[in-house]
Amino acid sequence: MSRATPLSGQASKTAEVRVSSTSLWSDDVWRLDGVTPGANRADFTLTWSFSLGDAGSFTDPAWSVLRTDAKTFLWSLKIDPPAGLARIQDATVMRLFGSLRVLIRWMAAHQLTTFSALTEREADRYIDVIAVRRSTSGKLIGAVTRGMHARVIRLIYQQGDKLAHPMVEEPFPGQSAGLSRSGATAWAHTPDEIAAPLLAAALWLIGEPADEALALRDRAQGVYDATLESGRSQTRAGFVVQAAMAGESLMTLAGGSEPVTSTKQLRHRLDRVYDACFIVIAYLVGARLSEIVGLTAGCIESHPSADGQERFAYLAGRIWKTSPDGQGRPHRWVAPAPVVRAVEVMERLSEPLRRHTGRNELFLIMASTGLIGPAPRVALLRGAVVGRRLNELFAPFIGLPDWRGRPWRLNTHQGRKTFARFVGKRDRTGLEALRDHFGHVNRVMTDRGYVGTDFELVDLIDAQTLQETRSVLEDLLTTQALAGRAGRRIAERSRFRGRTVDTEVRAYIDQILNETDMRLGVCDWGYCVYRQESSACQGDRDGPNPALRTQGACVTCANFAVSDKHRPVWASRSERNLALLRHPGLDPASQALARARLEECDTILKALAADQAASHGG
Ligand code: SF4
Repeated sequence: MSRATPLSGQASKTAEVRVSSTSLWSDDVWRLDGVTPGANRADFTLTWSFSLGDAGSFTDPAWSVLRTDAKTFLWSLKIDPPAGLARIQDATVMRLFGSLRVLIRWMAAHQLTTFSALTEREADRYIDVIAVRRSTSGKLIGAVTRGMHARVIRLIYQQGDKLAHPMVEEPFPGQSAGLSRSGATAWAHTPDEIAAPLLAAALWLIGEPADEALALRDRAQGVYDATLESGRSQTRAGFVVQAAMAGESLMTLAGGSEPVTSTKQLRHRLDRVYDACFIVIAYLVGARLSEIVGLTAGCIESHPSADGQERFAYLAGRIWKTSPDGQGRPHRWVAPAPVVRAVEVMERLSEPLRRHTGRNELFLIMASTGLIGPAPRVALLRGAVVGRRLNELFAPFIGLPDWRGRPWRLNTHQGRKTFARFVGKRDRTGLEALRDHFGHVNRVMTDRGYVGTDFELVDLIDAQTLQETRSVLEDLLTTQALAGRAGRRIAERSRFRGRTVDTEVRAYIDQILNETDMRLGVCDWGYCVYRQESSACQGDRDGPNPALRTQGACVTCANFAVSDKHRPVWASRSERNLALLRHPGLDPASQALARARLEECDTILKALAADQAASHGG
């Protein structure tokens, strides 16, 4: 049996290199030798002539440059892998080929004809697409498969010296190529079940608990400084402070209080307030780590809206990633009230360190624990430190719940991804307390006075909005039961009712999205297939009127659709109003209102039941 021949450098030019006993590197089909027991010959046959849709076949001459590099890349992993990696086996060649083919198809669809065109931004966009990719069974692909797609990109970057047109920018900088401990890819957004308690705790901490901890710090630091000034040693001053703190306490998340017995304990609390400020800014603004850490004192600005009727608060900072001169490009982010508060808290938290060092950044940290001594070692927060603090200190402090039975691993990029999802996602029912904040951000970002140059963030939001529209359409087209006037129209026409979401449904949705300007609104009680002319809430050309958008208005509206998914909302509303009506002290006006609401609920619930029966032929 002939042995496979090694490649080296630009060996792809050597067309006669053997990749197996029966295939040459230049062949369009590689039949690899490593067929393992129980596997088919076909499982080890790799075909380069796969279709690129409208862009033809990958073996067409137009793709020869990318094909040469793709073959070289894959084969180089077998005979000359990156430092620290073992040579891959044929089974792994096949697995990586599967992911490489998906990537190449995506590149072809986006007119990227060489790996050098695959920038860090494009790699991020690709991973966003992969995150919502579904298997043939219709389920979202698993974390391991997502990790494999990302790994291929990282490997292409690492094998750059073997390629004619290598990737120039490192993909996913600062993130592990594999899987995080939670089993999810490091660039995933934070799931709602984690994001909601995480943000709720962070918002709580930057409120009254921050004022309380800062006031205690100022008192303790005052005692410490005065003791040092009187000529006592640092050790002695520490004892004096500890005695002065006797009887002091701090609020707990559970609603109680806990005694503070040491400056270290106080510092621990102040550090968690610091973490909370980082989380609030990351999740409610969408800025990157470098942009948050680069913020300086006085960074909140106020500017009028385009029509001059309102003023909006902005966070003024710099975007470093795409800055050509390394100096950072000035940028303003919309700053909802909690972000303004987080900056105010950070200004107070960092004030002593800024005074000591003459620096003006907000996210300065001190190396030692406890109070600030005569010569503190101060530095700017680093990404690795943030990740460790969030996972090892902040998450246990707030009792962050597990996700699907395992601890969720936070990272510095998740806030940005989650922000984009929240703004793009119009159904924020899992985030009751934060709904208004994201609604506000949405409004400000669409104001013509908004100066938005973070195009990547806008792209992220657009991708999320599209995904949201797609999942609503999937539900509307396939659900067993629909109610509401728009719901009835859709129910009559959909040929997919009661089916699982398959290729045909997805192709139909693609067609709708490509051919129409469909606008779908989402709220916890139903969907709005929006048309201004029939809007019962008197919406305008931008969408529904939030002030008049109530369940009562929607029930009468021609734009309204309710699916099976919303049944629990209407059932619990019905129960609440029934309970109200049974209350002996209810005045007549409230009785009439409760009755009217009960009727609305009955109308919807009966319509859902009738439609379900009809769809089953009942
Ligand atoms: S009343 Fe409800 S369904 Fe009608 S346009 Fe307003 S939000 Fe949409």
